Amino acid sequence: MIPMAMTLTHLGTGSRGNATLLETEHAKVLIDQGFSGAQLEKRLGRLNIHPTEIDFMFISHHHGDHGGGAAVAQKRWNIKVQANHRTAEELGLIPELTHYFESLDMIHVSQDLAVLPVPVPHSGADNVAFIASHNGKRAAIITDLGSWTDELVTHVRGCEHIAIEANYDHNRLMNGPYPYSLKDRISGRGGHLSNDQTGQFLAQVCTPATKSISLTHLSLKNNQPHLAESTVLYHIDEVFTGDISISLQEGPEYSHYIGKSEDLEPTNTLTPTKQ
Ligand SMILES: [Zn+2]
Ligand SMILES: [Zn+2]
Repeated sequence: MIPMAMTLTHLGTGSRGNATLLETEHAKVLIDQGFSGAQLEKRLGRLNIHPTEIDFMFISHHHGDHGGGAAVAQKRWNIKVQANHRTAEELGLIPELTHYFESLDMIHVSQDLAVLPVPVPHSGADNVAFIASHNGKRAAIITDLGSWTDELVTHVRGCEHIAIEANYDHNRLMNGPYPYSLKDRISGRGGHLSNDQTGQFLAQVCTPATKSISLTHLSLKNNQPHLAESTVLYHIDEVFTGDISISLQEGPEYSHYIGKSEDLEPTNTLTPTKQ
């Protein structure tokens, strides 16, 4: 880890499980825990971290791919969870190990990490995006939303790193194998963002301060990394000159450094290995 920087590492994203590690000098937190206990242990192990080192798990919403592994992690390792009431209730979290947050209340994890939950529309769930702040630099982690609000735009604008879902390619979804009702649900206001919508959102929030973007939660059936990347770049070509990367289901992937000094070279902490 680079001192004074915040590290963001996707342990894996997609409909079969999501978890993202945020690490500062004084804190380690997970954003979502949609993996089994064994998978979480294995994925963190590749970064030489044991689950008991995690200070908090922040859960965005109760769907299994985001919160399905939270209660297991509480039981097995006594990890404390941060969630809103609806999410905690749906997941059957252990009250003694759960801190209940309200949207837009800043949560101070340590002297060098604070996390702000911002509500996002997602059908049948009380979903939030998270904005992590570290020494004045911010990273956004946004997933599972069918549309966005002005409030979300305000909070994400100017973040140094933005991790956001690019769930499906519109044509692939519409011409693909899913029944009409499911296509309707995915593409509706409460579903997921298409590559095009993600590009439109990013065009509103990218500023010269935005140094990197990771696209997450790609549908295996209805998307392809090259489609997601090219569609998003088409929308942000004129406002964004940083790095763009794709997070897939099998992580952990390389780390993003937020708030690092300009004179430090980016380095990989990890040599990817086959599962
Ligand atoms: Zn999801
Ligand atoms: Zn969801």
